[in-house]
Amino acid sequence: MEDPNQFWDGEKWTGPITDAHMHLDRKGRFLDAALDFQNSGGTRLILVHKPNFSQLPVSVDEVSAAYEETLLIAEEVRKSTNIDIQVILGPHPVVWAHQLESLGEKTATELHFESIDLALSHFEMGQCVGIGEIGRPHFPVSSEVWDSANQMLEEVLRRCANHNAPVQFHVEDRGAITCQELSEICARANFPLSLALRHYAPADVSSNFTSNLPVTVSMGRGSVEKIAKTIDFESVLEGTHSPVLMETDYLDDPRRPGAVLGPRTVPKRTNELGRHLQRSKEEGGLGWNHQEISNFLWHIHRVWPDTLYGECR
Ligand SMILES: [Zn+2]
Repeated sequence: MEDPNQFWDGEKWTGPITDAHMHLDRKGRFLDAALDFQNSGGTRLILVHKPNFSQLPVSVDEVSAAYEETLLIAEEVRKSTNIDIQVILGPHPVVWAHQLESLGEKTATELHFESIDLALSHFEMGQCVGIGEIGRPHFPVSSEVWDSANQMLEEVLRRCANHNAPVQFHVEDRGAITCQELSEICARANFPLSLALRHYAPADVSSNFTSNLPVTVSMGRGSVEKIAKTIDFESVLEGTHSPVLMETDYLDDPRRPGAVLGPRTVPKRTNELGRHLQRSKEEGGLGWNHQEISNFLWHIHRVWPDTLYGECR
């Protein structure tokens, strides 16, 4: 049994480091990006399926082939690196939004549900640990499309609830309201909030903001200070805090190099967070001791990922 108290050495975190939402692409940097993550301290990736946005799948067979490709990518990373990798499969709400025009709403929605059911069968076979990205468009749409997206999301969650399958949400950013609405949709669908996760979440991790929805924070500039400011460490110690993970949403898209954040970001920010928490209050930090820092980082990178997705085999 590892002792997480040993992992913060006053300067650097030497324990596990999880990026909870990353994509990899054979046409991008692929294994080099995974190695960048590993060489900067990363140990575990939640690899999220990425649809081919320049050629959207029009049949469930095409979706199936694309899922297989994501599973193969995970297999190659496992073989070529020491990274633990868990896969999330699912259709993307933005694909559905685009296909409303090209396929018509009925066909686009049918394809979306078939893609969910297919992802759930991979989940039952143990090939993926959750379903995503699901959710709703992050850009303004008509109120009809918005209503359809919300109804569809509720049905998707009902299907996932039948399998106890965790989900990752891709949603718009209207701050706390977004989290609150997602919690309400989960409740209506009888989907356990503990298995949900808002991806690309803002760094406010207070329960006022998140409505106790698990989040994976986009670790851009300022995220470290905001997490430190809003974390309720008492409830972390009590084991009642909803999960807080870290992500890059690295797209591995040659047309957008380094977007959303580069593969080295989570390890880098983890060390920044540790040093920020350690700094005295007079120096603008929180004055935590080594054990407190270790405990919190251990939750972010090991306890909470395991709670959502199970231990890596
Ligand atoms: Zn993503």
